[in-house]
Amino acid sequence: MGRILRVPVLMLAAGLLLLLGAAGARADPELPTRTSWPLRGVPQVLRGFDPPSTPWGAGHRGVDLAGQVGDQVLAAAAGTVTYAGMLAGRGVIVVDHGAVRTTYEPVSPSVSVGTRVATGDPLGTLDAGHCADQACLHWGLIRGDTYLDPLLLAPSGQAGGSYRLVPASERTAAAKRATQRQALQQALPTAAPGSAAAHGFSFPVAAAITSPYGMRFHPILHVWKLHDGTDFGAACGTPILAPYAGVVTQRYFNEGYGNRLMVDHGTVDGRHVVSGFNHAVSYVVDVGDHVTKGQVLGYVGQTGYATGCHLHLMVWLDGELVDPMSWY
Ligand SMILES: [Zn+2]
Ligand SMILES: [Zn+2]
Repeated sequence: MGRILRVPVLMLAAGLLLLLGAAGARADPELPTRTSWPLRGVPQVLRGFDPPSTPWGAGHRGVDLAGQVGDQVLAAAAGTVTYAGMLAGRGVIVVDHGAVRTTYEPVSPSVSVGTRVATGDPLGTLDAGHCADQACLHWGLIRGDTYLDPLLLAPSGQAGGSYRLVPASERTAAAKRATQRQALQQALPTAAPGSAAAHGFSFPVAAAITSPYGMRFHPILHVWKLHDGTDFGAACGTPILAPYAGVVTQRYFNEGYGNRLMVDHGTVDGRHVVSGFNHAVSYVVDVGDHVTKGQVLGYVGQTGYATGCHLHLMVWLDGELVDPMSWY
């Protein structure tokens, strides 16, 4: 009898949790809804967000976007300029959006304190000096005194130059899940950088495996389905390295998988091996390119159905989809 009662109670509790989760995801408009990349087009992420573990620690409190000196720097969202001037020898602009602020440097400002800007309005022009090898914009996102990943504001799912905007509520929920995922990482195995996996393959990113291949309750679609790959919980902007030499055979956008890339590795140890990379913010190789092991293929993102930044790795052996970890 206890058993009969327990099932409905558990179902009720699960239902309540789902309801609370849904309400939480809808309620919070802390991140602006209408956003723009702070440089024209879809800029390449040269360096990802890597927050320090202590407020005074070393790290990277924003992302670096590739640009050219003199490029127009654009407001990522509507707001009011609260700083526009020199700070420690470089031009810095801060735009207040209400609950969060965005920062831009090094920039020669064309706005001044108090200027109200709309999404995509020019703030000034890009200066040299932040990245060593080429001009780049350091873009920051701050809530209170907490630095957040600015790629949470990036218009995601871009394909062929068109943007698919993810609602702010979903981005906020994704950020929360990313935090929860970080807490989970301690308990999960970590792929060491370039660590020797089987068959001469190495892991494409050094990050914890946050979701293995197998059946799971889909966090966005809310149905049981096969999780057809291995998730690595790497930060947005983390370089994705070719696990093995091969040829790029496909590169396209898919609503679910986001920006996808397929690499055919040919025959390895008697099996025909193909790798699939999903959810990237962008790829830097194209169909027909020969890639070498360790070459940068692109950068981790959260395009498609993704609950936060991660790489979803897939592997086919002789045309059959398998658990990537059965090969790695
Ligand atoms: Zn930077
Ligand atoms: Zn996945």
